[in-house]
Amino acid sequence: MTRILLIYTGGTIGMGRNELTGALEPLDFNHLLEAMPEMRHIRAQVEVYQFNPAIDSSDMDHTQWERLAAIIRDNYDTHDGFVILHGTDTMAYTASALSFMLQNLTKPVILTGSQLPMGVLRTDGKENVVTSIELAMACDSQGRPRVPEVCIYFSGRLLRGNRATKINADGFVAFDSFNYPHLCDAGVDFRFRDHHILKPQWDKPIKVHAEMNPHVIVFSLFPGIQPCVVRQILSTPGLRGVVMRTYGSGNAPQYEWMTQMLADAVARDVVVVNISQCLSGTVSMDRYDSGFNLKSLGIISGVDSTVEAAVTKLMHLCAIYSDNPEAIRSHMQRPLAGEYSV
Ligand code: ASP
Repeated sequence: MTRILLIYTGGTIGMGRNELTGALEPLDFNHLLEAMPEMRHIRAQVEVYQFNPAIDSSDMDHTQWERLAAIIRDNYDTHDGFVILHGTDTMAYTASALSFMLQNLTKPVILTGSQLPMGVLRTDGKENVVTSIELAMACDSQGRPRVPEVCIYFSGRLLRGNRATKINADGFVAFDSFNYPHLCDAGVDFRFRDHHILKPQWDKPIKVHAEMNPHVIVFSLFPGIQPCVVRQILSTPGLRGVVMRTYGSGNAPQYEWMTQMLADAVARDVVVVNISQCLSGTVSMDRYDSGFNLKSLGIISGVDSTVEAAVTKLMHLCAIYSDNPEAIRSHMQRPLAGEYSV
């Protein structure tokens, strides 16, 4: 029988109301299981690993990702797939991080959660969990996993994890991927888009890079941004990488002070990546003078990556190539797990 490891980290899906404050707080997995007797009808052997205590995903960080990567590594040979129950708020960051940490992945790792807790009558959690487990069990005609990559499944959509973004704080359709097609749409039937799903080298063993270097920053440009702010950001002690959220196709103001500060940062081996503030479309630094200026300073294009993918990729590369900025720069400019379009 197919063996699935269900990793419960927390999030709304498993929360209940605190009687004193009325706010939602994470509860343990047994509470979630009681609210979901349907789990017993799943035709797979589902084992559970739970975070104790369960956490709101606002408390996720690189140490928790390292923990998740280690759990998957330790259970990789004995399980056919992994489903991670996770809060929605930072799910796209965790999915992106894992996509880089789990190199040569040949098994599904599907993150899901819900907008309403499992115990609530109108919960979206049941469908999300059951379908995620079914997707993790799905095989192709040769008996191989149909989706051997890190994904997010939410409200009928299976998305590549490092292409997904949370788009709605209230609605059930909480995730989308603007620059990449859905890997599968789950309606009455599953509609897989096989040619958009990663094709791993099946015979290569998984390589788990469990470490991340968190000394990176994401910052957004806005009209009127002041030199003291940019100076403060770029002179952060220990800074290794910057994801700069620029305008449109990768444009930034051409103030002399900004050009100088960015050039100084690049000269100090801080890796600066250009990501657009637009949800859809790509950075193209050759299109306008203001983008070209950034390129000539040595700023790297993030192409059509999400912010979540760009920042976690930087954390991953800064951990692996800690004293080799040139290697970070060169690996940053090639897709590692389908995170941008070529
Ligand atoms: N605050 C919650 C979390 O991310 C929201 C959710 O799960 O939807 O853990």
